[in-house]
Amino acid sequence: MTRAVLVSRSAAPTVTDVDLPAPGGREALVTVTRSSVNYKDGLAVAGDPGVVRTDPLVPGIDVVGTVAAVGPEVEDVAVGERVVLTGAGAGETRHGGWAEQCVVPVDSLVSLPDAVDDDLAAAIGTAGFTAMLSVLALERVVAPEDGPVLVTGASGGVGTVAIALLAARGYRVTASTGRPENGDSLRALGATDVVDRATIAEPGKPMQRAVWAGAVDSVGGATLANVLASTQYGGAVTACGLAQDTSLPTTVLPFILRGVSLLGIDSVAAPLDLRQRAWARLGTDLDPALLRGVTRTVGLGEAIEVGAAVVAGRVHGRTVVDVA
Ligand code: NDP
Repeated sequence: MTRAVLVSRSAAPTVTDVDLPAPGGREALVTVTRSSVNYKDGLAVAGDPGVVRTDPLVPGIDVVGTVAAVGPEVEDVAVGERVVLTGAGAGETRHGGWAEQCVVPVDSLVSLPDAVDDDLAAAIGTAGFTAMLSVLALERVVAPEDGPVLVTGASGGVGTVAIALLAARGYRVTASTGRPENGDSLRALGATDVVDRATIAEPGKPMQRAVWAGAVDSVGGATLANVLASTQYGGAVTACGLAQDTSLPTTVLPFILRGVSLLGIDSVAAPLDLRQRAWARLGTDLDPALLRGVTRTVGLGEAIEVGAAVVAGRVHGRTVVDVA
């Protein structure tokens, strides 16, 4: 039995005791110290069938803690190792990290670098990991000297970490936000300019003034279409999210007239070598103090309310769940 948040498609989420199976094959049992609240966890709390794919479900797409036991086929992960798991079905197709213990697949499990303590790992979580994947993809095409880069959804989990990571690498970052009151905080993370997201939220012309060398987008919809239309020749835009919309009302013109690249980002099924590379870079590039400034910590019960607030776009930065 483990203490956990349980959600189902038919009943309100609650904190209760949940049975966990012993780790099988290539699985590990993790004693969870921290999890976090991501956009997807908010959808799980609301019982969204696109996320709650097994019913009932313990949410929590992030799991941070220590390996307590391993399955019979595991020789490459040791009991006592400090680990992080993001995505890989946790909190969607299998019980996730909003629990004192969690059974996870070891093939997506990353050993945490010493520089990243459990609090920091959870503050980074899926959102920060996705920001890092976005930066790894963007920097293959765009160098800091190429020009300014735009981060949309700037106040959110992906946006805040992306700003800090890009600024640390010397990029000139413009933050796009619907919450001007977060301007100082976004500048403190490293943004040099802040723009009102309303200026790029409505459908616009297929080709616009070329402003951005690149962009990290987590909102999709007309915003992503406008960003593509205003990206410079040879630039690149990463797309990881749908906070505005799943649609992409664009044309081929930015691609065929300016050679713009659209780079898709997925964190859930990311292969282990990419996960390890991303966490190593997070350990060296991300200033923990900057992230701490936009992170708050809640208990298991409170995580339920915060989940709804994240989906409503009311949370700035990251929320760590202290499961103890
Ligand atoms: P958050 O809710 O923390 O941040 C999203 C931000 O988007 C908000 O803070 C807000 O920023 C902005 N936003 C919200 N609603 C709208 C809107 N209608 N139009 C324009 N902007 C809007 O979520 P995360 O940062 O954790 O995740 C962002 C997106 O990325 C989500 O869609 C999530 O599902 C997706 N995601 C995808 C992953 C993947 O593997 N592909 C992994 C992680 C996340 P502001 O107030 O500053 O405007």
